[in-house]
Amino acid sequence: MKIAVGSDHGGFELKQALVAALAAKAKVEDFGSKTREACDYTDYAQTVALAVAKGEADFGILVCTTGIGVSMAANRFQNVRAALCQTVDAAVVARQHNGANVLCLSGAAVSPEYAAEIASAFIATPVDMSERHARRRMKLERAMRLSDASGLAKDDPEVFATIVAQTEQEDTEINLIASENFSSRACREAAGSVLMNKYAEGYPGKRWYSGCLPVDAAEELARTRACRLFGADHANVQPHCGSAANMAVYFATIKPGDTILSLSLDQGGHLSHGSPVNFSGKIYNIVPYTVDRETEVLDYDALERQALEVKPKILLTGASAYPRIIDFKRIREICDKAGCIMMVDMAHIAGLVAGGAHPSPVPYADFVTSTTHKTLGGPRGGLVLCKEKWAKALDSAVFPGMQGGPLENIIAAKAVCFREWMGEERKGYAQQVVKNCAVMCKTVKDRGYRIVSGGTDNHLFLVDVKGTKGITGKEAAAALDAAGIVVNKNTIPYDAESPFRTSGIRVGTASVTTRGMKEPEMIKIGTWIADVLDNIADVSVQERVKREAKALALQFPVP
Ligand SMILES: *Cc1c(COP(=O)(O)O)cnc(C)c1O
Repeated sequence: MKIAVGSDHGGFELKQALVAALAAKAKVEDFGSKTREACDYTDYAQTVALAVAKGEADFGILVCTTGIGVSMAANRFQNVRAALCQTVDAAVVARQHNGANVLCLSGAAVSPEYAAEIASAFIATPVDMSERHARRRMKLERAMRLSDASGLAKDDPEVFATIVAQTEQEDTEINLIASENFSSRACREAAGSVLMNKYAEGYPGKRWYSGCLPVDAAEELARTRACRLFGADHANVQPHCGSAANMAVYFATIKPGDTILSLSLDQGGHLSHGSPVNFSGKIYNIVPYTVDRETEVLDYDALERQALEVKPKILLTGASAYPRIIDFKRIREICDKAGCIMMVDMAHIAGLVAGGAHPSPVPYADFVTSTTHKTLGGPRGGLVLCKEKWAKALDSAVFPGMQGGPLENIIAAKAVCFREWMGEERKGYAQQVVKNCAVMCKTVKDRGYRIVSGGTDNHLFLVDVKGTKGITGKEAAAALDAAGIVVNKNTIPYDAESPFRTSGIRVGTASVTTRGMKEPEMIKIGTWIADVLDNIADVSVQERVKREAKALALQFPVP
């Protein structure tokens, strides 16, 4: 056991006594003060609190004259729960009920002998794991999500109100939007950091402005981590979003009027893959390919015939609503035969790729574009990976080709996200997202609903609500929303309904898995979906599900 200890001048004597008394019980690290001279309690409290926050120490002990200043200072840090205790009983309860990990003591109020007793009781008492105390501790943590923005409560109450509403919504609803996820607190810290203050047109080491050393380091971390995580030759982390990442590849490789062969929007493609209302459809000659009418999956032989006939400059794969594994090796063969650039947009599946739950396109594709906020769970933003020979063309397409100064705060948050994926925990997460999706999909299917392509291999599935129940995707999504379950209406292949009504809904499991939900919860949620859709006009079913869904959501805190 490791204990970090600190004090100011007012707590110096007691701290010295405690260090001696605890030396036999634990590895004690004394962070000072080392003398009786007047000093600032905040400095020592901060050092000890950070050691606990980082996990470098199991416990902290802080002393000042009253114990109040050090406890206030320590409680400003995340993952720190500092308790000012004057009695052994208080220390025991602070551990059991509140899960305190920093003990604060008054140098003026307690004797060295009694302080040693308090400290011994504190470190020896385990946290009470019973439901009611666990629930209250979880509420303490949940409050932290709001407290991150609490400066705004005074400075800008109107904006603060929107953050309160979003926090409440995330905490209490079941989010199954396949393109969404919950960012980590670490990501949000980087995204909200002072790195946003810096102008940094250009690239690390080659900027147009002075004073770029800190942001150079941040962007270099993001680039190298992206390359390492995905095994890519080169990464550009500056695109502001996924659409901009796609634009960068088009600008780097082809001319206005050139042909792109891409999956059509109503079959699962993306706006930026050539929709007529998007820049991509206005600038380039878009030829759409489709999924097979019977199987609703990609027909690679048909795609090969079409590619040889159309002779596109770019063959673009990747989708926003395709529930199956994409065979990138086969796509490479097609591109080689057709003599075109292979571009993969892995925006949706990037997290599955990073975690090894979907085959990677990186070894095969000339370019891989992505967002960083979907299954990857990082900040809202874009990313392009490419082979070395395209690196220069790509970088100049992004800057000065289409963007000005990069968002270095968001780039730093991307770096944080990539590092998170290098640990084992996220690999398990990616597998769990897919397992959860399979279980929820089967639950809905077993209730009689037709699933597009018959099932799912990834993080999402599509339900044909029109074909099953005669209701539109729009009606289904509205009923589920009223029941506290958030999905989106979605066209299904060869949809006869308009894109505003649609025949389907899209359901994804990235967000619920981030909250720690597993198979039993997926069965519950799948059952609720079927209950609501079976009784589309019955408000009492929606109300019952909303109550149950909220109770479930509150058990699984959002990071
Ligand atoms: C989400 C998505 C994008 C880009 O989205 P932005 O909103 O521009 O960040 C690009 N391609 C696909 C396939 C997507 O699903």
